[in-house]
Amino acid sequence: MDISVVVPLYNEEESLPELEAWIRRVMEANGFSYEILFINDGSTDRSWEVIERLSESNPCVRGVSFRRNYGKSPALNTGFTRAKGDVVITMDADLQDSPDEIPELVRMIREDGYDLVSGWKQKRYDPLSKTIPTKLFNATARRVSGIHNLHDFNCGLKAYRNKVVKHIEVYGDMHRYIPFLAKNAGFNRIGEKVVKHQARKYGKTKFGLDRFVNGYLDLATLWFTNKFGIKPMHFFGLLGSLMFLIGLLAVMMVGSMKLYHMYSGHPYTLVTDSPYFYIALVTMILGTQLFLTGFIGELIVRNSPRRNNYEIEEEITR
Ligand code: UDP
Ligand code: MG
Repeated sequence: MDISVVVPLYNEEESLPELEAWIRRVMEANGFSYEILFINDGSTDRSWEVIERLSESNPCVRGVSFRRNYGKSPALNTGFTRAKGDVVITMDADLQDSPDEIPELVRMIREDGYDLVSGWKQKRYDPLSKTIPTKLFNATARRVSGIHNLHDFNCGLKAYRNKVVKHIEVYGDMHRYIPFLAKNAGFNRIGEKVVKHQARKYGKTKFGLDRFVNGYLDLATLWFTNKFGIKPMHFFGLLGSLMFLIGLLAVMMVGSMKLYHMYSGHPYTLVTDSPYFYIALVTMILGTQLFLTGFIGELIVRNSPRRNNYEIEEEITR
């Protein structure tokens, strides 16, 4: 099979028939063999009935329906595990992404050798309250991930080589960072294509402004797990040692000041009068806790089945 189109959806009943017809038109015009995988993320409207109806008239339509709403990432991941096409396309169900982009995306994967091509909604039809934070978000994501050529990490329209989607796991809200996940799995031919974007025709957006807060937290998580995921002590141990060092200096200050006062005939003082006493106390406690966190992290890693999971590209055996 040439192409799998994975479509996560939550309450998009009005858009689905149009989307299916449009995808079918593009696929037939280009002679692609394809499947459309609708992942119904616990919709409370009639989306699933619409999908069932579509699958009766078009044998290329498949679907999965969650019993409840889990989020876009779980929906995408479920689609990824099922996708059989050589090239996997993801797109939103709300008709904001255009299926007319598919042939060129597929060509870039097949002929230009990209592992992943992400859409770039250069001209967006979204409110300003969304486009401005998005710019900041993408700038941060570029820096942290080291993928400097991407302008739009979270574009719903993306194309992947099949093996990419089988080697990444999208969970929580990590769909915003799929290029980063792919890079961490060793797929670094990541490209971008400017895509047309439309204003939402039916229904309303499923994500509020909390997406930006959560987005940054997830980026921090990815940065941390990628760098220290299997050696947490390198992170916590470093911070802990720094704390101890500060504590040690503070203790030396407290001690030497006390001695100086004792032998230079100054009036009697308590060590608790010195601010360094409190600095020493706090940093020693924090240092201990950081070290213990590191040890616990190491114990968890020791038991993780993933601690020796490597992405192997090729191997010679005799
Ligand atoms: N979506 C989903 N599960 C959710 C929220 C959203 O499957 O819990 C789908 C939604 O139906 C749409 C896509 O994810 O197909 C993108 O959502 P939306 O258009 O609301 O996001 P925006 O375009 O505002 O970023
Ligand atoms: Mg949308």
